[in-house]
Amino acid sequence: EEQRPLGWPNRVFQVWQEERTHHARPWSSVEIATGLALKTLIQKVIITNAAHFEELSVTLAQQRDQLHQSREEMRHRALHDTLTGLPNRAHFREALDKLIQTSQEEGRPFAVALLDIDHFKTINDTLGHDRGDSLLRGVARRINEILPEDALLARFGGDEFAVLLPPMAGDFLDLARQVVVGLRQPIEVGEDCFTITSSLGLAVGNGDADPTELLKQADLALYRAKAEGRNCACPFDSHLQTAVLERAAVDR
Ligand code: GH3
Ligand code: MG
Repeated sequence: EEQRPLGWPNRVFQVWQEERTHHARPWSSVEIATGLALKTLIQKVIITNAAHFEELSVTLAQQRDQLHQSREEMRHRALHDTLTGLPNRAHFREALDKLIQTSQEEGRPFAVALLDIDHFKTINDTLGHDRGDSLLRGVARRINEILPEDALLARFGGDEFAVLLPPMAGDFLDLARQVVVGLRQPIEVGEDCFTITSSLGLAVGNGDADPTELLKQADLALYRAKAEGRNCACPFDSHLQTAVLERAAVDR
C-alpha cells in the first residue's frame, strides 16, 4: 500500500479526472442556463454585500472617530475646571510632578503660588452667585494676562487659584507681587466692573521637592498673607513651618 498524506488524490483518481476533463461531454442547454443563472446570482450576492460592507466600514470608522472624540472630551473634562476652563487640581499636580523632574535634570529652581480672592464671600452675598462666577472668570483672564507664556494657572475650586512658575531669569516673588498688583486694577466682565484684592502664598522648589509638601508650604504662606492684612504676596520660609509646629504643640 502506497503511503500518501491525508487528502492526497490517489493516482487512479488523477488519471480518471484527466480523462474526464479531456473527454467531457458538452453541457446541455439546461445545464448552461443553470450555470449562467448561478453566475448572475453569485454576482448579485457579491455586489449587494460589497455595498453593505462598505456601509458597515463607514459606520465603523464614524463610531471610531466618535469614540476618540468622546475619550478626548472626557480626558479634557477630567483635567479642567468647567467654570473658567482652566486646568484643575489634578492637571496641576501632573504638571508639578513633571516640573520637579525637569528641575532634577536641569538643576534650576521653580515656584508654586496659591492665590485666594479677599472677602469673596461678601461679593457673592451682595452681588449673587452668578456674578461671583463672572468675577472668577475675569480673575482667571487677568492673571493669565500677567503671567508669562510658560506659567500654568489652575483653579483649585472656590476662589482659590494655583500658579506653577517654571525656572526663569527674574525673581519669583517679583512676579507674584505683579499678579497681586495686577488684580487690583478694575476687572470688567460684560456689564460688571469689579474691584477686588487678593492674597498670595509663594513656595520655591527644586529637583528634590515633594509636591504635596510644596503645596502645603504655599498654603502656609497664603495663610500668612491673609493674616498680615491680605492684599499682598508672602513667600514661604521655614519660620512659618516652625510657627505652625509650635502652634500644634500648644494645641496638644
Ligand atoms: P478670605 O479673604 O479669607 O479669602 O475670605 P473669603 O470670603 O474669600 O473666604 P473664602 O476664600 O474661604 O471663601 C470662598 C467662597 O467662595 C466660599 C463660597 O461661598 C464661594 N464659592 C465657592 N465656589 C464657588 C463658585 O464656584 N462660584 C461662586 N460664585 N462662589 C463660590
Ligand atoms: Mg477668599
